[in-house]
Amino acid sequence: MDEFSTPKPVADSAPGTPLMRQYAAIKKEHPNALLFFRLGDFYELFFEDAVVAAKELQITLTSRNKEKGIAVPMCGVPYHAAEGYIAKLIKKGYKVAICDQMEDPRLAKKLVKRAVTRVVTPGTAADASLSSDENNFLAAVARLDSGKLGASVAGFAVLDLSFGYYIEISKANQQLAPPDYAIPLVENHFGVLSLEGFGLAGRPAAAAAAGAILHYVRSTQRGALEHVDRIGFYERQNCLVLDAVTVRNLELVEPLFAGSGDAVTLFRAIDHSLTPMGKRLLRAWMLRPSIEPAEINARLDAVEEQVRATVEREELRRALDGVLDIERLLSRITLETANPRDLLALAASLARLPGIREALGRFKSVRLRSLLALVDDLADLRARIENTLVEEPPLTLADGGVIRSAIDVELDELRTLSRSSKQYLAQIEERERQRTGIASLKVKFNSIFGYYIEISKANQQLAPPDYERKQTLVNAERFTTPELKQYEAKILDAQEKIVEIERRLFAELRAAIAGEAKRIRQTALAVAQVDVLAGLAYLAANNNYCRPKFVEGGEIEIREGRHPVVERPELTGSNDRFVPNDLYLNATSDTILVLTGPNMGGKSTYLRQAALILILAQMGSFVPAREARLSVVDRIFTRIGASDNLARGRSTFMVEMTETAAILNTATPNSLILLDEVGRGTATYDGLAIAWAAIEYIHARTRAKTLFATHYHELTELADQLSGVKNYHVSVKEGAGGIVFLRKVEPGAADRSYGIEVAKLAGLPPEVIARAREVLAEHESAEHRLTSELASDELQPSSVQLTMFTPLSQKIVEQLREADLDRLTPLEALNLLHALKQQVK
Ligand code: ADP
Repeated sequence: MDEFSTPKPVADSAPGTPLMRQYAAIKKEHPNALLFFRLGDFYELFFEDAVVAAKELQITLTSRNKEKGIAVPMCGVPYHAAEGYIAKLIKKGYKVAICDQMEDPRLAKKLVKRAVTRVVTPGTAADASLSSDENNFLAAVARLDSGKLGASVAGFAVLDLSFGYYIEISKANQQLAPPDYAIPLVENHFGVLSLEGFGLAGRPAAAAAAGAILHYVRSTQRGALEHVDRIGFYERQNCLVLDAVTVRNLELVEPLFAGSGDAVTLFRAIDHSLTPMGKRLLRAWMLRPSIEPAEINARLDAVEEQVRATVEREELRRALDGVLDIERLLSRITLETANPRDLLALAASLARLPGIREALGRFKSVRLRSLLALVDDLADLRARIENTLVEEPPLTLADGGVIRSAIDVELDELRTLSRSSKQYLAQIEERERQRTGIASLKVKFNSIFGYYIEISKANQQLAPPDYERKQTLVNAERFTTPELKQYEAKILDAQEKIVEIERRLFAELRAAIAGEAKRIRQTALAVAQVDVLAGLAYLAANNNYCRPKFVEGGEIEIREGRHPVVERPELTGSNDRFVPNDLYLNATSDTILVLTGPNMGGKSTYLRQAALILILAQMGSFVPAREARLSVVDRIFTRIGASDNLARGRSTFMVEMTETAAILNTATPNSLILLDEVGRGTATYDGLAIAWAAIEYIHARTRAKTLFATHYHELTELADQLSGVKNYHVSVKEGAGGIVFLRKVEPGAADRSYGIEVAKLAGLPPEVIARAREVLAEHESAEHRLTSELASDELQPSSVQLTMFTPLSQKIVEQLREADLDRLTPLEALNLLHALKQQVK
């Protein structure tokens, strides 16, 4: 025995020792991973790994070997707590290679055999520390070059190993040769001769990327990956596209301002699913709503049926409640990291399936019927687990006690033997007491010294000659006898055999369950859908939602629509009654709505509400409105508020313009664009000019449905010039004490911006408010004079538009610049001077 199981290794760990040579050889194989090296009860890290891990895990960095000159940095974590530390490192982006002892240190002749049993990487983590409603994707990009200039194609593949989902995205599909290994690897894994059936034929780059992922997973993980049983080709156009900016702006999964703890996301507002799989699926549906009316309506039919049948729905939901994360448990099973409790957790979840089937059987809609057909109650697997494992097994297999009795004859015999040892030792103890006359003599066991007879120091001289001294303590002396030695060997042998048999039986059970991965996964996926649909029905029933109707022809009409989050006082903490609003859009006369009105009037809320209602509807959910006739949209874009980005330290205006450019370049007539205060990030007049030009462009080229909220009052003139633009405003009431926000959206432009009234509400001193009114009045009359004069001039119409919002000085500069002195007669020059003078009078 060269090492031992005391807390810290005291083995000589100088680089030259056998132990450190073993370490170095293993580390060489895993240069990019932090090596967790099992030494007794600890996983130890050495050298640079120790420095990094000590810092990241906030654990003490020690060093070995100081006396001998070369101090080796070292830190360690107890093996039973390792998973938590590993998870922490993975979250921070590190890879961890876990090197275990491959034999019992007590029995090893010399150096204990060690090997890396598993490499955990951020992309392959599949343990319980992962958040259950998010995916954990591993991605690969493959680039194939044909050799000809410019002919290269990129393929992208992602895999969530913790569930076994496989999604592919490829940019193009030219015929290029993928690397030799890739496609056969993928074909082999899925057991097919060609990838055609997966939509991957002629998509070599995507197939190569998928092959790369499989290769990577194979080289880091142990199991056979039965649960990775599907592969699919995915193109962006398959769903309603929500880009990252839009997902953020609409606060679908995260609040805009991190840290504003009570900010509520759409996900939180609508999630009533009861299982982790359901939560993940709901999230996926929300981030990738459908664009297929047939699919959307199939989901809506299922939701509608459950909205009506309250009792049946709640029975179904009760049956779903308590189902654990079957997908993740299954991943652990096929990756061979599942422990006995994981298998029992799976069995407990399977036990709920018959109830789910029964409750589901009461519904008639096509979607729920077909889901029922997919839910297998898996009774055989459950029985197998429950009949093999004891009810409350220990966490690990290290000490046995996991497998029930009457499963294996040999196991039962060994257990009887080992159980009888207590009795047997008591017998020896009694006999030796008699023989020596020492009443306090004891026969004991510990894991390092095995069995021994202990006699107190006082009685030491009474020890018979056949007692062999084993260890001397302060107050006692420990002995062994040939009889005890022989017995010890027999018992230890039995113990070891027990653990060995239990390990084998457990591995067989786990492999048998892994072999049924396909069936389990199919059931888990179906249960997830049932859960989401039932949750959406619950949401609709409890919040007075209506079923949206999808129409052809591009019309969108929402009556008394509400914002799904803002309308819920229990979520927002606000007691204001929510004011419902209508929305009407079509492909011809009402394509672009310009929404004006004071800050705080409710413009942003109205915009977001429209987008959220469309997202909900295309997910297959009912919507917060009295009535909704909708057309399927292909993309939703948002550009909301410039100031939001300031905190992230990017050039605000640049960000705003980049995003606006992306919108103008990619929107289609079936897209919905929300522009809220575009142009706010620069000097007023540039911003206004850009906003103006952007609307003209959307109107002439893109034809996307657009909601444009602005405090640039000047933009309302667009409605007079462009046939598809309509003005709306958020209404306010002016009373004696100032303005009151009515939050009602009404046709027509706001009469003015009410900035001063809002400032008053905000508590600016009365003198400032009064003086602001004076300044505004002066400014407005000057502008008015200017506008009327210039309008009568022979300027180009586009310049007339600009005059609406150009300041006086700038206007004068422009007129001077435009005056062509080479062609101006003296009289004309004098007239120009006169005109300019008039303007500044
Ligand atoms: P704006 O974009 O015009 O500045 P917001 O949309 O940000 O205004 O709304 C300002 C406030 O009014 C928010 O606190 C919001 O909760 C509330 N609000 C907005 N719309 C409504 C509505 N229809 N009914 C009730 N409160 C609303």
